[in-house]
Amino acid sequence: MNEQAQIREPQVVEIPDFVTVRQLAALMDVTPIVVIKELMKAGVMANINQQIDYETAAIVAQEMGFEPREETPIAEDVEDEGPTVLWDRLYAAEDPQNLKSRPPVVTILGHVDHGKTSMLDAIRETDVVAGEAGGITQHIGAHQVEHDGRSITFLDTPGHEAFTAMRARGAHTTDIAVLVVAADDGVMPQTVEAINHARAARVPIIVAVNKIDKPTAQPERVKQQLADMGLVPDDWGGTTLCVPVSAKKQIGLEDLLEAILLVADSTEIKANPDRPAVGTVLEGQLERTRGATATVLVQNGTLRIGDTVVARLAHGRIRQMLDEFGNPVEEALPSTPVLILGLSDVPEAGEMFKVVPDERTARAIVAKRQEELDARSAAPVRAFTLDDFSSRIQAGQVRELNLIVKTDVQGSIEPIVSSLEKLGGEGLKVNIIHAAAGNISESDINLAIASHAIVVGFQVYPDAAARRMAENEGVDIRTYEIIYKLIDEVDKALKGLLEPTYVDVVVGEADVRAMFRIPKIGVIAGCYVRSGEARRNARARVLRDGEPLYDGHVASLKRFEQDVREVRTGFECGIGLDGFDDFVLGDVIQFYVKEREKTA
Ligand code: GDP
Repeated sequence: MNEQAQIREPQVVEIPDFVTVRQLAALMDVTPIVVIKELMKAGVMANINQQIDYETAAIVAQEMGFEPREETPIAEDVEDEGPTVLWDRLYAAEDPQNLKSRPPVVTILGHVDHGKTSMLDAIRETDVVAGEAGGITQHIGAHQVEHDGRSITFLDTPGHEAFTAMRARGAHTTDIAVLVVAADDGVMPQTVEAINHARAARVPIIVAVNKIDKPTAQPERVKQQLADMGLVPDDWGGTTLCVPVSAKKQIGLEDLLEAILLVADSTEIKANPDRPAVGTVLEGQLERTRGATATVLVQNGTLRIGDTVVARLAHGRIRQMLDEFGNPVEEALPSTPVLILGLSDVPEAGEMFKVVPDERTARAIVAKRQEELDARSAAPVRAFTLDDFSSRIQAGQVRELNLIVKTDVQGSIEPIVSSLEKLGGEGLKVNIIHAAAGNISESDINLAIASHAIVVGFQVYPDAAARRMAENEGVDIRTYEIIYKLIDEVDKALKGLLEPTYVDVVVGEADVRAMFRIPKIGVIAGCYVRSGEARRNARARVLRDGEPLYDGHVASLKRFEQDVREVRTGFECGIGLDGFDDFVLGDVIQFYVKEREKTA
């Protein structure tokens, strides 16, 4: 063997910021005695359980022929997209060569009583595989059916409320929406809502014209109404597949499944099965015997038993996985729903989950998220407001204003929408996501969150639940009594001219009890803080007999000669005001801050 062949690359050893002698020895696969001796050579006396810092550990490792490296931070995962994954980006990041077809994921939408639930049940009954399995399906939030040897995944919670609530949480689960319209009833308000919600999500729509078994069915009338909504049926030369069906009599269901696969083929529904899984939690449950369980939809990658997953604050190693028939499975491919066991907590529907390398990473991610959550709960979030939009237009960051318009009566929609659509120009425009008559509901707020939209109401108001949700999520609701005012504000926002309105919030009051003239500085008022707090960075007003006679900035705030930032109720302090010296005993100094006015 020649000399050259014996030179090998030093082995890399990853060392954390602090490590005990025992741990360091384990990392290098040597006995602790060797490490202790090496430390002694370097002049460090340490016992086996003693912690040493990275620098010291690195010297020892180097002496022993290793290449020390700071332990790779788990930051990559901790820092990244957080609980929300943008699906577009997720799939876009994949090398096209790794993408393989996956079953389409379908949501059923439509007006109440048009047959959404019946449709799901009927489709389930057509499934041969389910029939062979005994047909006893467990409720796990979604199920798959086979057609022509291919699978289709149906989400079990129909309706646009659930659909958009998921989207508002950042989840994008649905590839295709099946809009159920009863042939005897036609397009109804929730049909329109469903269409707008699906469009906002850019999800293709297939129409199932249901209840064609009824003598009162008028499928042609339904097609006309759909065409009026811009969904022109394919047999009329349009692009919307309209399938006549009867959920009750099991008519046309095969055609519907066929149509779904046809649309799926034209929209490149793919994923990379060869990567750690990511997906969405469909449901979470605490079960007495099994502990925290969750049904999840795998959207990219393959989920396996033994994988460590994180779903927002819940994490754990998957102990068991069950399919929709309650059968244990070893792995779940893209578009497959599975029930997973082994989580620390119950995650909520709509949360993302992802597989991480190990428990340590999982815990670090959860800790980081918890920290962010704590920080955020201190400061209320604002999703998107008209003021923000105005300044972002000015900064050239956005070109489109998404609006959800709610009005008191049907007749007000058209004039408002057409006026709004005329606004803008030079590439700036208003984009009406949804316009309908009726109060502002939770469903509208979810749609606003999901589409970064603002809700404008004309002579309508949010109901209590919607108001609470909007406050929590920071959604801007603007209500108007006069059309002109509504149009004018949106116009101003679009021109980047809308100034946020601020209100003064008093944070404290202090009584002036003495005056001191300080050469070269001016008069300092000796004060007693009687309520709230005196703040150095707040604005201040001097009130004499309740009348303001000065308004300006605090020049100095001191306690016992010390500059301080604030002084609380019951304490004394010295206050100097910018350009004001004429204090008299009994004056009140009022401290206030400007806060952006809350709308709605
Ligand atoms: P959902 O509110 O949209 O989920 O509607 P359901 O599935 O609960 O159905 C509402 C009603 O319509 C029920 O009484 C069903 O039996 C009935 N229904 C659903 N599909 C059909 C159908 O194809 N034909 C007839 N005649 N009735 C149907």
